[in-house]
Amino acid sequence: MSSYTAPLKDMRFVLNELAGMGDVAKLPGYQEATSDTVDAILEEASKFASQVLDPLNYSGDKEGSVWKDGAVATPKGFRDAYKQYADGGWPALPFEAKLGGQGLPKLVATAVEEMLTSANMSFSLCPLLTQGAVHALELAGTAALKTTYLEKMVAGRWTGTMNLTEPQAGSDLALVRTRAVPQGDHYLISGQKIFITYGEHDMAENIVHLVLARTPDAPEGVKGISLFVVPKFLPRADGTPGERNRAKCASIEHKLGIHASPTAVMVFEDAVGYLVGEVNKGLSYMFIMMNAARFGVGMQGVAIAERAFQRALAYAKERLQGKDLVQGGKTVPIIRHPDVRRMLMLMKSQTEAARALAYVIAAAMDTASRTKDAGEAKRLQAFVDLMIPVVKGWSTEMGIEVASLGVQVHGGMGFIEETGAAQHLRDARITTIYEGTTGIQAGDLLGRKIAREGGVTVKGWLEVLKGLDQALAKSSDEDIQVVRQRLAAGAQAVSECVDYVLGAAGKDPNAAFAGAVPFLMLMGIVAGGWQMARAALIAERKLQKKEDDAAFLAAKIKTARFFADHVLAQAPGLSATVVQGSSSVMSLTDEQFLAA
Ligand SMILES: Cc1cc2nc3c(=O)[nH]c(=O)nc-3n(C[C@H](O)[C@H](O)[C@H](O)COP(=O)(O)OP(=O)(O)OC[C@H]3O[C@@H](n4cnc5c(N)ncnc54)[C@H](O)[C@@H]3O)c2cc1C
Repeated sequence: MSSYTAPLKDMRFVLNELAGMGDVAKLPGYQEATSDTVDAILEEASKFASQVLDPLNYSGDKEGSVWKDGAVATPKGFRDAYKQYADGGWPALPFEAKLGGQGLPKLVATAVEEMLTSANMSFSLCPLLTQGAVHALELAGTAALKTTYLEKMVAGRWTGTMNLTEPQAGSDLALVRTRAVPQGDHYLISGQKIFITYGEHDMAENIVHLVLARTPDAPEGVKGISLFVVPKFLPRADGTPGERNRAKCASIEHKLGIHASPTAVMVFEDAVGYLVGEVNKGLSYMFIMMNAARFGVGMQGVAIAERAFQRALAYAKERLQGKDLVQGGKTVPIIRHPDVRRMLMLMKSQTEAARALAYVIAAAMDTASRTKDAGEAKRLQAFVDLMIPVVKGWSTEMGIEVASLGVQVHGGMGFIEETGAAQHLRDARITTIYEGTTGIQAGDLLGRKIAREGGVTVKGWLEVLKGLDQALAKSSDEDIQVVRQRLAAGAQAVSECVDYVLGAAGKDPNAAFAGAVPFLMLMGIVAGGWQMARAALIAERKLQKKEDDAAFLAAKIKTARFFADHVLAQAPGLSATVVQGSSSVMSLTDEQFLAA
């Protein structure tokens, strides 16, 4: 079975050339992120991912986490790997020095996260949720909560969870019923939460649950939801874990993928909880956590696609079947067949496009949070907000497609567990569901991020694409000219959809939202195409200057051309679906779905 190798060459190209690592490092507080330091971090993370986490991926899937009497044992090797992860300082990477963090940009942490997730998605979920919990506490917690919890979480000694979902409250958190009754300096929390990732496990000293609940006199709906910290063990005065809280794991789920990641049913029976921020503002704090987590789940799409691609490529080079269409003769490795090539190119080009887009957004997050220019911060934050549902929704849908192609490249062996290709598809399948389904992301994109602001930010981005078009026009490269045409058609398709949505949203919301997911996919492929076009131009310039690694640079241009012909080419069709396809979506009565 092939093992994971971090795609460091592409990561460095994207970090430095597309995401502007050099500029990010100049932002206040990021002086530690020198190019030597970033290089060393990438090398070390790649070793940790491939030597420690990757070997546990397949065994972790087979063994799974096991529940017994309220406790959860993670698969063999996970505890030790987590200890190495914490001892290595990895959890501290993106946090400020005052919390014990390393103060590195989100951009660098994103590349590290990609490697850990490619190597072992189940493992990486625990740090992902902990980071989100740290962000929420940092922003909204009292000084006392911060002192008690943050340093331990940043050090990785305590992990965090996100307790939103209840049996009747999934996408619709207005339906949350868990109660929080004030009692002295704390609250007593009662209720049931389901599907809680790493809600119980054996890798850390304590688990810090962030729980959404309602106080007794809270208004109905989302305006009556508050956020509480509910630790597994109540911290003693000296900060060490003390008495067991009444927050119990009743069971864990048997599920399609990510078997090593425990998905817990949590029961709170008068558990001690501490309010985070103000009463009834819980959902807005949770959104901070969710935005970081949504971006992180988008990265899971990229990471799993990369891993599936590597496995398929290794197999395609080994598996002998059929003859070369041109040369005939001996049986050849399947990588010589055009259709297998097409699949591999779809895998490679979409993974690279989604990586580039996500890293560029990570850099925009860094700049938005650190720049001293208030106007730039506002503009960039609006751009990040626009693109987070795209990174989440498109990259994860792409991850599933790529993992499925990975199975296809393996033929029958892809369907057999021992090659590992099937695991990637099973693991990838959850990414379009948790942290808001693709439908929810698409609704957010169309409603909150476009219609509500009259399309200002998306139109600003279309202007950026026009600027790029002018730069592309100057290239004499034939492939780049095709990329230019396809990207222009893609931008036109987005523009038509935006006009349609802005017109329809107020008058006929069903018509506007019927095409929300096709629109999100269109945004993804055009945004991915934007980055591939930029990459191709940069590669052309570097080739002209005879810089090193001509093979990589030439491949970048060809990969951009493939992406344009095979992926961006779908843009006009998607636009037709969004603009013309809405009436048929709602055209049957509920009963007509059942007509025999
Ligand atoms: C393995 C796993 C791990 C998870 N981890 C966590 C966790 O750590 N913490 C946590 O709190 N939750 C977690 N979840 C829960 C997850 O976030 C929810 O499953 C998800 O938000 C969807 O909610 P639901 O399952 O109730 O589906 P539903 O909300 O019932 O959705 C069903 C379908 O209806 C669609 N739909 C629903 N409402 C709308 C709407 N308004 N517009 C358009 N379409 C809509 C959805 O897109 C979906 O296709 C996890 C789930 C799983 C399976």
